[in-house]
Amino acid sequence: MDIARDAFVDGKWIATTERFPVHDPFDGSTIAEVADSDDALIDRAIEAASRAFEGWRKRPGPERGKLLRKLADTMLAEEDRLAALCTRENGKALKESVAEVRYAASFLSWFGGEAERIYGETIPATHTGQRLVAIREPVGPCAVITPWNFPYAMLTRKLGAALAAGCTVVAKPAEETPLGTLALAEIAERCGLPAGVFNVVPSSDGARTGGRLLASPSIKKISFTGSTEVGRIIMKNAAEDLKRVSLELGGNAPFVVLSDADLDAAVAGAIVAKFRNTGQTCVAANRFIVEQTIAETFTQKLLAAVGKLVTGRGSDDGVDLGPLINDDAVAKVTRLFDDAIEKGAKLLAGARPTSRLVPPIVLTDITPAMQLWHEEIFGPLVAIRTALNETDAIIQANDTEFGLIAYVFTRDGARQARVAEALEAGMVGVNEGLVSTAQAPFGGIKHSGVGREGSRHGIEDYTQLKYIATRI
Ligand code: ADP
Repeated sequence: MDIARDAFVDGKWIATTERFPVHDPFDGSTIAEVADSDDALIDRAIEAASRAFEGWRKRPGPERGKLLRKLADTMLAEEDRLAALCTRENGKALKESVAEVRYAASFLSWFGGEAERIYGETIPATHTGQRLVAIREPVGPCAVITPWNFPYAMLTRKLGAALAAGCTVVAKPAEETPLGTLALAEIAERCGLPAGVFNVVPSSDGARTGGRLLASPSIKKISFTGSTEVGRIIMKNAAEDLKRVSLELGGNAPFVVLSDADLDAAVAGAIVAKFRNTGQTCVAANRFIVEQTIAETFTQKLLAAVGKLVTGRGSDDGVDLGPLINDDAVAKVTRLFDDAIEKGAKLLAGARPTSRLVPPIVLTDITPAMQLWHEEIFGPLVAIRTALNETDAIIQANDTEFGLIAYVFTRDGARQARVAEALEAGMVGVNEGLVSTAQAPFGGIKHSGVGREGSRHGIEDYTQLKYIATRI
């Protein structure tokens, strides 16, 4: 496989002396030694993004949009190669990598369309002989810091919106998965994206690189997806220079199943919401809250569905769940498992993890005293607690500092509306286990983040309003 492994700065591939290894999560083997960007190279990338901004912002929106759609089309044309690369560095099942490439390309094409529609406003004047307008301008060069769980999609959700708005980008991919981002840089180069508009500075030290990007006055906005802990650091550091921030942070999603739910639909939704990327998504169902009258039936149906899931090497035929990303991830799931068992949880499927390959685990009799009630599990572990009724289910669902997404399954139309409005979350899936899509606003409340990505709101976050009052 031909893999891009150098930094991409100002339209050039930079081979640094310092390198860091990228591992296949399945067997720990080294896939590539990637450029480790030092401060000087990061500064070069920031300067390139600043220079390129002047030209890029002046290009007509439709032209920027056309280039974005060309990037999307090229990604789709090279779907097999990109998906295989994603499975190698992230470990996820190949069919999920294919879905991710398509999902990632959809942000580029959708935002490409939106580049033609970044409208301002005409405002009624106060006096005769006056014209008042508000226009939307790009905020400037942006730093984009992404996690390892969706190496393509978390990048393009930011990159598409930024480039459509007329901003330029310095991207810092997660140290576990820089190869997908570099592959997109290579595609951008081939598609004729001007030098400096999209720069990639891989690094083995997220804190140092993030700090350097945040310290630069040339960077006007930071868009970050990752842990709440790092999100807090970024927001604090961004305050120094009053930079804009968009933060997509951790979740602790409740998955509520009410007594009148279609249980087969709820199980199908649960499988997607829990097991996509082996449970390693910020929108993963973390706490199953099931009304007690149907808890036994739901659990039995879920166990039957879970029993069909195949765990293994992501590139092997028929595999549903690839390995966890690294040993730290295994240690976290194991800690949460041990704590729950010690505090009285009942094990209905699976076992204590012994390696990165973790077959699905199902635990019932969950209580709020357990750590997994409060922490993101980030693994294939289903935790089920019963609720007395709808009101109890809502109280339990909102018993968390996070508020990214909540799921609820019920057939009753009034209940759908009532519960969806009562749930404290930036997004709600009603009889839906997968809600993310380019044209809808993705983002959280409470400790799950600031700002929205995707949708027209996602572009607005890369623009600033300028009000112009003219005496005519
Ligand atoms: P995860 O748990 O998903 O790995 P992290 O928040 O640790 O989430 O990492 C997400 C991204 O943030 C990665 O690209 C990582 O390198 C980067 N990162 C880690 N620490 C910092 C920091 N202090 N400032 C900026 N970025 C950071």
